Amino acid sequence: MNKNNTSAIIANETINTSKLAEAKRIIIGLQDELKNYINSGSGPFLAAIYDSAGNLVAKEANSVVSGNCSHNHAEMNAIKAAEQRLGTYDLSSYSLRLYVTSEPCIMCLGGIMWSGIKEVYYGVPSHIVEAITGFDEGFKPNWLDEFKKRNITVYGNIEPQTGEEVLREYVARGLKVYKPEK
Ligand SMILES: [Zn+2]
Repeated sequence: MNKNNTSAIIANETINTSKLAEAKRIIIGLQDELKNYINSGSGPFLAAIYDSAGNLVAKEANSVVSGNCSHNHAEMNAIKAAEQRLGTYDLSSYSLRLYVTSEPCIMCLGGIMWSGIKEVYYGVPSHIVEAITGFDEGFKPNWLDEFKKRNITVYGNIEPQTGEEVLREYVARGLKVYKPEK
């Protein structure tokens, strides 16, 4: 891990180049698609769940504001949609991969752990999300190691510049950075 080099991939196992290439392709696509979701009043985060054969199982944006629910982060929405589609609360037998435009927050890490998702790929790291937007992503000590203990693969910092641009535009447009008062 090298936090000083924003182009360095972060991972909790040896990087598989074909999985990384697939993740880059999907995350670049999600970052681009996210702009449409933002224009429709959701975002600024988008998550997709695929099976290991590359089939899309669920894709959802953050809908905290439009849904009046603080749980409605992109990852939580996508996990819920996948579980309802597959008719189970335990996705572990499906070997699913979650791709998300930014690093999951403290709540979504819990949601992923409880869901049985086996692989997580994210774009913009939390410290960059926080610096650009002011969202508080929460305390997540050693989460890559904790996920490794639970056999959950994580690759992160995937094409972060693409995602940073989307977040900067969200802020520049004066769109809502929703959070509880401190
Ligand atoms: Zn979250």
